[in-house]
Amino acid sequence: MSRTAHEGSLTGKVALVTGGSRGIGRATALLFAQSGAKVVIGDVDPDGSEVVEAMKRDGGEAVFVKTDVRDEGEGRLLLDCGPGVLARIRELDGGWPRVDAVAITHFHLDHWGDIVPWVWGSLYRFGDLVPPPELWLPQGGLALMHEFADRFGLPHMFEQAFRPHEYTGGTAFRAAGLDVVPLRVPHYNVETYGFRVSSAETTLAYSGDSAPSDQLLRLAREADLFLCEATLERGDLDGDPRGHLSAEEAIEAFTASGARRLLITHRPVELPLDPGLEQAQDGLELEL
Ligand SMILES: [Zn+2]
Repeated sequence: MSRTAHEGSLTGKVALVTGGSRGIGRATALLFAQSGAKVVIGDVDPDGSEVVEAMKRDGGEAVFVKTDVRDEGEGRLLLDCGPGVLARIRELDGGWPRVDAVAITHFHLDHWGDIVPWVWGSLYRFGDLVPPPELWLPQGGLALMHEFADRFGLPHMFEQAFRPHEYTGGTAFRAAGLDVVPLRVPHYNVETYGFRVSSAETTLAYSGDSAPSDQLLRLAREADLFLCEATLERGDLDGDPRGHLSAEEAIEAFTASGARRLLITHRPVELPLDPGLEQAQDGLELEL
């Protein structure tokens, strides 16, 4: 007998099964569906769409996404997710963002605030479901997410929209087919990291929020692209301890690091910038 909806121990959860088209992956996916989970099957084998159809006929919710977990550097990695990011990516993508992983440098809200509406949006939509992205957080980030969820949301809401992980400073992790090395940078008294992101051929260094420092130079050393903040009009307007860079200080760091190309970010539009400098804008695409 076929049921119209599955109720079970996993009702309301989303399960991502890679290699779910056949064999043990297929059996696992079917088991998840029978326990009430919404199932995303990721597989290179297009037979996955037939497994999905079988689940739907049986009243389950499932979607097939053609995936090759061996892909090198073809994923999409989002570095930080401040307010406005989700809406802009939805405009650019023409739908819910197709992002494989998100990595957060620190917990100032302008760097992670849109993770919250991302969660709520994921909880209330399913038709065009995409696999939940990995969410990479500094150590202690998971506890912080749980605290936030308990006070302002639903228990484990972040785990329903993302696959969360914690990273450790100096230890590489792999996300969206890329190697990511988080390196601690000075930013007032807040634990903050910059990222070195590498594919087989290219390295991007992203400052996060950082004061002028040797750590920042190490982060950017000989990178193909240095995506660097330039928040301040002048360095002497910063706090104590320092936490940001002026445009002049970003140029100094770039020159000393030996990086090949500088792209300025995290700069208020109200602050002038030498037109000879490249500045990041919404939707900018670069070839490296
Ligand atoms: Zn900050």
